[in-house]
Amino acid sequence: MPELPEVETVRRTLERLVAGKTIEAVTVRLPRIIQRPDDIAAFEAMLEGRTIRAVERRGKFLRLLLDGLVLVSHLRMEGRYGVYKADEPVEKHTHVTFRFTDGTELRYKDVRQFGTMHLFDPGDDLVQPPLAKLGLEPLDESFGFEAFAAVVADKTTKIKPLLLNQEYIAGLGNIYVDEALHKAGIHPERPADSLSRKELRALHEAIVTTLREAVDAGGSSIKSYVNGQGEMGMFQQQLSAYGRKGEPCHRCGGAIVKTVVGGRGTHFCPQCQKPKGKRSGAARTGV
Ligand SMILES: [Zn+2]
Repeated sequence: MPELPEVETVRRTLERLVAGKTIEAVTVRLPRIIQRPDDIAAFEAMLEGRTIRAVERRGKFLRLLLDGLVLVSHLRMEGRYGVYKADEPVEKHTHVTFRFTDGTELRYKDVRQFGTMHLFDPGDDLVQPPLAKLGLEPLDESFGFEAFAAVVADKTTKIKPLLLNQEYIAGLGNIYVDEALHKAGIHPERPADSLSRKELRALHEAIVTTLREAVDAGGSSIKSYVNGQGEMGMFQQQLSAYGRKGEPCHRCGGAIVKTVVGGRGTHFCPQCQKPKGKRSGAARTGV
């Protein structure tokens, strides 16, 4: 599933490709993608004649800002956008097409069909589901250390599931949580309220740095086709923990291990990310 950096990359590319374009007609081929309004014909009709002004992001959601409307789009597992000339063949799994007045089309493809679109009046989207309950936005100025600590510090849950919970912090997924915890040297099963102030600072910094590096890597890799996840490959070469089971830790040389935390496959370094209380003593003697 695309996480914040991939969605941010899609957002930037999408904005460059479609901002300023005016919708002539919308065709929905798979009604279940459209979650709001219930009436598909109304969804299509409401968008006609509207110009896309900007594309923003909230967590893993895209927000297409049009004249007088906001289209909220979630790519889920495999949703992706592409811009085509209107006379190009429509590929399989294309579920929604936005035809523009300039003879191009924005097409939404989704093999798994899990993606969603919601249409709102401006501002309503932020106070209604699915965006209403989203937590802190980690690349926003508002994501300061104190705001982060206020969310994390008193929770008794394990730190990894907490970071995955979109109601606390929006946009993190399995890959970047593993990366941030490795960078901060924190075991994924540590209870959040067991983290010291120093560890919280390290984790806060690791989250921001990890996401920024991923956005920077992804932002340079996409050309004309907007892709929900294919360009992740650029950044995966730089991953330190996720997907590296058995490979050497970049910090200590020990093997990265894979386990399951909160039902999710989890990669970490047993040397660099110790459960609390085992940081010193016996574990060190064998090194
Ligand atoms: Zn290590």
